[in-house]
Amino acid sequence: MNPPTNKDAHERARTLIALARPEAPSGSDQTWLAAHLETCASCRAFAENVRETVHGLRAIPIAAERSLVSTTQTRVRRRALELQRHRERLWLVSVSCIAVTLSALLSAVALWRGFEWLGGQARLASSVWQVGFLVFCVMPALVAGILLLARDTHLADHTGSYEG
Ligand SMILES: [Zn+2]
Repeated sequence: MNPPTNKDAHERARTLIALARPEAPSGSDQTWLAAHLETCASCRAFAENVRETVHGLRAIPIAAERSLVSTTQTRVRRRALELQRHRERLWLVSVSCIAVTLSALLSAVALWRGFEWLGGQARLASSVWQVGFLVFCVMPALVAGILLLARDTHLADHTGSYEG
C-alpha cells in the first residue's frame, strides 16, 4: 500500500468513471483509465457499479411518470378531502352560530318573562323592570367591551414600551 499516489490514482479513476459519458470519445484520460482498470479490481468494481446504476436510471422515466400520476392523484384526493373538511367546518360554524343566536333569543325571552314576573310581584311600573331587563342584557356585552378595551390599551402599552 502506497497511500498518497495510489489513493490519488483511484480518486482520478473514479472521477473519470463518474464523469464519463458513453458518447464522449476517449482521450488520453480514457486510455489511462483503461490501463488503471486493467490493474485495479476495486476501481473495476466501481465502474461496474456505475454502469449498473446508469442502466437502472434509464428505467426510471416510466416509473417517475407513474409515481407522478399517483402523486397527483394523491394530491387531488387530499385537496378534495380538505375542501370537504372545510365545508364541514363551515357547516359546523353556521350551525353553532344559529344555535347561539337561538339560545340567546330564548334566554332573552325567558329573562323578559322573568323580569315581567318580578316587576309584577314587586308592583313596579313596567318601564322600571323593562329598563332593568335592558341593563341586565346589555351588561355582559358592556363588561366584555370594557375588558377588550382594557386589553387593547394593555397591548398598545406593551408595543409602545418595546418601541420606546
Ligand atoms: Zn483504482
